Amino acid sequence: MTLDLGKPRSAGRLEGGGAVSGSTGGVPLIIPEPQGWDCPNCTVTDVTPPLPPGQSRYHQCAGLHGLSAPLVRAGTRAKVEAVEREDYLNGDEQARGDDGKPYMAVRVTRDDGEDLTVNAGLASARLVT
Ligand SMILES: [Zn+2]
Repeated sequence: MTLDLGKPRSAGRLEGGGAVSGSTGGVPLIIPEPQGWDCPNCTVTDVTPPLPPGQSRYHQCAGLHGLSAPLVRAGTRAKVEAVEREDYLNGDEQARGDDGKPYMAVRVTRDDGEDLTVNAGLASARLVT
């Protein structure tokens, strides 16, 4: 027994970025284009399947004091910067960069807005038995 999937059509492009890579009995296959990511502060790049809006990829950025920083979608004009904690720590544990300074956030500024990844101060306790 054989399954006839019809004659393959020539590959082409769809509006919106998808690619048509043939046909299965009249139903076109839509293969989403991979999403490129890069960092404006270091050389890290990545390619993933398309992610929903608002999601991102993170990496330990060598150009941003070793902090966990988001990658930006390839082709997006953006600035990624570390935000130093400016108040008194008073014993709080705070994420620190490789320069020893406490950083409370990583800010991504794009033409259409900004995102903030907050490094909240950590509580600590000691168990006395
Ligand atoms: Zn980086």
